Amino acid sequence: MRYLVLSDLHANLEATRAVLDDARRLGFDETVILGDLVGYGAEPNEVIELVRRLEPMHAVRGNHDKAASGITNAETFHDVAREAVMWTRERLTGENRRFLHGLTEGPADLGKFWIAHGSPLDEEEYILQAADAHETFSQLDLALAFFGHTHFTSVFRLEGGAVSMALVRGDDELVRLDRKCRYLVNPGSIGQPRDCNPKASYAILDTRRETIRVRRVAYDIAGAQAKIRKAGLPPVLAYRLAQGV
Ligand code: ZN
Repeated sequence: MRYLVLSDLHANLEATRAVLDDARRLGFDETVILGDLVGYGAEPNEVIELVRRLEPMHAVRGNHDKAASGITNAETFHDVAREAVMWTRERLTGENRRFLHGLTEGPADLGKFWIAHGSPLDEEEYILQAADAHETFSQLDLALAFFGHTHFTSVFRLEGGAVSMALVRGDDELVRLDRKCRYLVNPGSIGQPRDCNPKASYAILDTRRETIRVRRVAYDIAGAQAKIRKAGLPPVLAYRLAQGV
């Protein structure tokens, strides 16, 4: 079985389309989404509608999905993120708002692996360092979990009690899963990468081959930027897409 793993799409339609085109060429059976479909980008409805057509699909909600659908207010967000949340709230169709509102709270145990937006211990927390991953491995009995939220494409591996962390840099990287190890894997962000590589990031888990293929995909960044500027969203949200920060 091959699972397409998508995270942090952030209303970036150009990036989402490019990722789905690339993934369809490689092939996949089911889709998992790690949250933050909206926020920052200019096309929240279009991205939600594209994603909703992916079947079968398993998804958990992100902090931006919660804020945009009214589950939380955006008080804890920094100014630019809050402005984008308010902009998104005004534009979501009723149906798409209800879809976001109804997304599952993470983590979700899908049997072969877990999915979460932030940490599997707390959907709003970040896994940034080996210590964060160690805490998760020690409290939860999981062999493999996918998470997002940080927008850094990365693999945390627990082997013999020690956690190693690797940032995934290449445009086409294969991670071979070792049954003696446990893993926390971030497929990176589609709509707003922050690891200095502006290409959209995603992954495909192959449970038969026991591999995770991590891909970086070029997309029409200028097109996404133009829509953000035209929408009247904060200009920094356009600028950062080209930098990958
Ligand atoms: Zn995000």
